This record gives sequence, structure tokens and C-alpha cells, in this order.
Amino acid sequence: MIDMAVLQWNPDSGVYELREATITTLTDVEAMRGEAATPIGNAEIIVDGGRLAHVETEKQFRDAVLEDAGSPVEVQFLEQDGVLYPADFHSLNLATAYYNFEQARLYALARGLAPEKLRGAPFYYFPDVHLQGADPGRQVDNAGWFPLLRSFLLYPFDRLQEVPLAMNQGVVAHEYGHGIFHAEVFDGSWFPAYSVDWCPTGRCAQQAGYRMVGIIEEGFADAWAVGVTGDPRFTHHSLSMLGDSRDPDRFVRKRHCYSQSAYETELARTAPLSEADQDRYWSRRQYEVGTVLAGALYRAARDEGTSYDQVMDTLLRSYRASGSRSLGAVLESDRDGSIFGSFRIVARAVIDAAGDEPTRRALCAAWMDRLALTAAELEGLCDDVAANGECG
Ligand SMILES: [Zn+2]
Repeated sequence: MIDMAVLQWNPDSGVYELREATITTLTDVEAMRGEAATPIGNAEIIVDGGRLAHVETEKQFRDAVLEDAGSPVEVQFLEQDGVLYPADFHSLNLATAYYNFEQARLYALARGLAPEKLRGAPFYYFPDVHLQGADPGRQVDNAGWFPLLRSFLLYPFDRLQEVPLAMNQGVVAHEYGHGIFHAEVFDGSWFPAYSVDWCPTGRCAQQAGYRMVGIIEEGFADAWAVGVTGDPRFTHHSLSMLGDSRDPDRFVRKRHCYSQSAYETELARTAPLSEADQDRYWSRRQYEVGTVLAGALYRAARDEGTSYDQVMDTLLRSYRASGSRSLGAVLESDRDGSIFGSFRIVARAVIDAAGDEPTRRALCAAWMDRLALTAAELEGLCDDVAANGECG
């Protein structure tokens, strides 16, 4: 147990402030390393086609892209009355990031994450990342989960002038949510089989399933962020230009109501675009459609007899489930993504994992409403429930 000063959002005053926090999982304080995360500094990562041409294994991938594998970080503290105060900006940023990973992990463990999953997961701190096809120069102003390196990336900032992403607990919890999805739904597989089946040669014959994976990844990652922080507006502190576009709470029909037919219309409309333009389109849209899903979960949690934690217990159980209706089983059996590309299938997998009646009913009412699903489409899971009727 270590008492340390970190930056945290104070909902009462509406600002970030230095706060004493107790960190429970650190095993090496100077390197800010422990069960929740392992920071790696000074790494250089280069991802381009030439380097990847002959990569077939995880080890080959690491060897190819890690131009510099980096090294442990060194954090400086001043101690006062038993509390460690980070002594400079990077020390504060790293201490806060670690604390944020710890909070995200504790929340996930309480929901049922298997303790061996993501234990001590690496995060590359301010790495020098170069991606082929992206703007020249290093990648900045972002955070991410990079499944092929089983690592988180906390990029340096350049133009973002608000709260650094590493210090935003919601942003770190969102990325941790991606890690949970990878660890549980894909069982930590380095290269999930579906991506080879659906998109051999890198091109996907059928877009619905492939884009759906992006949508549920982003929507559910936001749901994790809200669970950890209790703050549906967590993006505002660092990414105010997003406005309310990711807010799962305050109901706006345009933001919170969608349907399978709207999705298919959008897929058909974007199909003639070049592959790069489709990627650009969906790289933004997946967050917005994801907000419909995060909004449905948020709404369900407000019903009587259930809670946000019970809804998230259900979501995690749906990640870990293995029956024929589960996310993992459908991903594995679907040959081209045409089955997975259906909100009915995703809703069915989540609702089927509900551990109690009020949560099941609340999820039925919210998902049927927000995604225009009928009870019949949910195959017996929601026959006794009426949709909430907010989307009309
Ligand atoms: Zn994300």
C-alpha cells in the first residue's frame, strides 16, 4: 500500500486536482510497475508493409516493429508525511496513469475478469510510433490498445491542450475495456481467427461483421469507462471537441436510436467508396454507433432492481460465455461476418448472460427500444418485456 499524489477529476468542483490516493498493486515504485500495468519508456515502433511482409508469428511481429523495445521508466518523488509526491510532469503523468490502470483493473476484477488476464500488461509511455499511410512523423494525441503487441499505447501530446489522456481515468478505462474484450472474447489470441476468415488478403468480402466488431469494441469500451469513473461525460475533460457525441446518458434520439436496417443502408451507401475512404468513414462512425450500445446499457442500468455494476457484470459474463449464442462462439462459427454483423446477435449474447431477472428485463427493454429489435428476434429471451418506447 503506497500513498501517492495523483491528478483526479473532482465532480463537485468540476476540475482536476491533486489528490492523495492509495495504490495497492505496485511492486516497483521507481519503475511504476505492478499487477495493474508495466510502463515502458523510450520505445520506437514502426509499422509498415515492408517490415510486415514475412511476419507470421507474434515473435516475428515484435521483432519487426519494435525498432527500439524501450526500457523501464524512472519516476522521481518527494516524500512528505508518508505521501509520495511526483516531482515533475512525467512522474505525475506516470503515477496518475498507473493509478488509472489500477482502478480500471480493480473494477474489471470485481465484475469477474479472470485475475491472470492482463496482469502487469505493458503500456508504452510516449512511444515514438510511425505508421505506414499515416501522416509522416510520430503519432501523437491518442491512446490505444494495440492487440498485436498485447499492450497499451499512451502517445505524446501535441495539439491537445486539455487534460492529458493518460491522466483521464475514463480514457485509460476505455482502453482497458479494449484489453478486456481481447483477453476474454478472443481469449487473448494474438491474431483472432475471424479476421483471417472474414478478411483474407486484408479485404473483407462482407463488411457488416467486420464493422460490427469495431462498433461493439468502441461502445463497450465506453461502457467500461463509465463504469470505472461513474462519469458519462469523461471525454469532455480531454476531448471537448467531441461535444456530447459519446454521452450515453442524456437521451437524444439521433444519438441513441438506431436499427439494423439503418446500419445496412449505411453499409450499402458506403460500399462504393474506396477501401481507405470506407475505413475513414467507419473509424468515426464506429464510435457514434457504439454510443447507441453504450447508451442502451446505461439506460438499462437505471431500471429498478438493477444497477450499472450488474449490467457490467452481465457484459463481462457475455464476454466469457461459451454457449452457441455467445459472442465468442458466433465469431468462431461465422465464416464471413454476415451473422455477427447483426445487432440481434449482439443483443442476444449480452441479454443471455444476465444473472438476474431485473437486469435481463431492463436489458431487453432498452436494447429492443434503442435498436428497434422485436422480442421474436431475440428468440425467447425477451418475450415477457415491452420495449421502453423512447425511440418511438
Ligand atoms: Zn476505443
